[in-house]
Amino acid sequence: MDQPKSSIAIFCETRAEWMITAQACFRRNFPLVTFYATLGEEAIAFGLNETGVTHLVTSVELLETKLKIPKLKHVIYVDQKKVSTEGYPAGLSIHSMQAVQELGAAVVKPQPSDLAVVMYTSGSTGRPKGVMIVHSNLIAGMTGQCERIPGLGPDDTYIAYLPLAHVLEMTAEISCVTYGCRIGYSSPQTLSDQSTKIKKGSKGDSSVLRPTLMAAVPEIMDRINKNVMSKVQEMSFIQKKLFTLGYNYKLEQIRRGYDAPLCNALLFRKVKKLLGGRVRMMLSGGAPLSAATQRFMNVCFCCPVGQGYGLTETCGAGTITEVADISTGRVGAPLLCCEIRLRDWAEGGYTSKDKPNPRGEILIGGPNVTMGYYRNDSNNQDFFADENGQRWFCTGDVGEIYPDGCLQIVDRKKDLVKLQAGEYVSLGKVESALKNCALIDNICAYANSEQNYVISFVVPNQKKLTELAKQRGIVATWEELCTHPDMEREVLREIKEVASSIKLQRFEIPVKVVLSPEPWTPETGLVTDAFKLKRKELKNHYLHHIERMYGGK
Ligand code: AMP
Repeated sequence: MDQPKSSIAIFCETRAEWMITAQACFRRNFPLVTFYATLGEEAIAFGLNETGVTHLVTSVELLETKLKIPKLKHVIYVDQKKVSTEGYPAGLSIHSMQAVQELGAAVVKPQPSDLAVVMYTSGSTGRPKGVMIVHSNLIAGMTGQCERIPGLGPDDTYIAYLPLAHVLEMTAEISCVTYGCRIGYSSPQTLSDQSTKIKKGSKGDSSVLRPTLMAAVPEIMDRINKNVMSKVQEMSFIQKKLFTLGYNYKLEQIRRGYDAPLCNALLFRKVKKLLGGRVRMMLSGGAPLSAATQRFMNVCFCCPVGQGYGLTETCGAGTITEVADISTGRVGAPLLCCEIRLRDWAEGGYTSKDKPNPRGEILIGGPNVTMGYYRNDSNNQDFFADENGQRWFCTGDVGEIYPDGCLQIVDRKKDLVKLQAGEYVSLGKVESALKNCALIDNICAYANSEQNYVISFVVPNQKKLTELAKQRGIVATWEELCTHPDMEREVLREIKEVASSIKLQRFEIPVKVVLSPEPWTPETGLVTDAFKLKRKELKNHYLHHIERMYGGK
């Protein structure tokens, strides 16, 4: 990789200027360095220093923190406001994006092997890693993804609100630009009429934009599911009955590969309107989507949900389900840009001899596999080239391949903990099973090798837990309820019930619980921008509870 130009970093929320900056960098062959907005100042400073960035594109808010990055020479702010350029370290100049646009620059065609993006991923553990994506990786990954979106073109409107520093959103938006679809910029707080930053009675972004395509992380679809279902609970008896009848009827029709037009017109049109009424395909990725939520989206939003599987290291590409595939829980067959292999993982008990289908660690190979981590040789052993020169990445995820060639993600190597007695517990498996509890909005299972049982941190469902407390005659504030021993017992009771109905092993069932009155949002630093649990941060946050629970007090 011969890279004559200096890198340009971008650090701001999802907005048009982000994509304009990215396109400008691609055309002029400047590598773009990206960060999650919630990565934290320390991690961002680390990345900026590691890549020796001289130019940073950012928003006024960050500018005000007066970053101290030795090599930084120019900061370009994307906001329209006028900004004071005083008080910054000597040698650092501040420019508006408009001024830079007016300057212009000659187009320099990049080579396929030139670095396009260094994407810092927070990952769920450890310090941030800068994934090196070259132009040919981007083209390969996006070609693979777009082939699974039938009819993608100028008639489509895409609603953009997920963090652009995440590979799924970035490749989705570049694909939209490439195929001539419109993009409307929104945010998680303004997405629908009910969103937190939309004044009651005003329209949210989806109602105004009326998108045809939408990407979502499962957490967001779970929330829509819970909100709609709790609205249904508030309906009159007859309305509720009608809705449930229609829901179950359509569910059965979908399972058989049919639709239910009458139910759509009478019952679900209103629900569909929540997202503007025109969404023709939803895309889900980044984490496992539960079968219940996928079915809910199929039924109430009357559109297919394409579930995708990919990693930053594979340029977001791996698999996406076909629109006609009506099964749940699977992520589809490999995209045309890559191949997938399974490697035996004896320690975890997954091998190619497993019945009914072979299982093992997922390896992804193809031109979408990126060039490794920036200056991080110790982590680069997960990348390798085979005898034909094809690059591969060992994902650490465990998959099962069905006879029709589709993949299901069944486990994750990193989430495996060996208990003192030698049993392996897959924390991810325990969590996705227990997320089905009505009392639980979010759960993190925890165990370490010095112990012989699993414990858990739970964000309870406020409405359900409050109702339960009322039934038990407990009067208390929300914070008090979350530390009330009776409430902890109730949540544990439900955990046990659900766990045994889905046949978790005895040692996999959490035996103690801490209830958190605050939800885990990316702003709290306890989950990533894609709402994945940050285990290390959660562990630190709950450290004294861990000591207490394992101390037996
Ligand atoms: P990231 O690089 O931040 O996008 O994270 C990639 C990781 O997300 C993968 O290694 C998987 O563990 C997880 N992941 C992505 N898509 C899915 C999916 N559809 N189902 C389950 N896990 C997924």
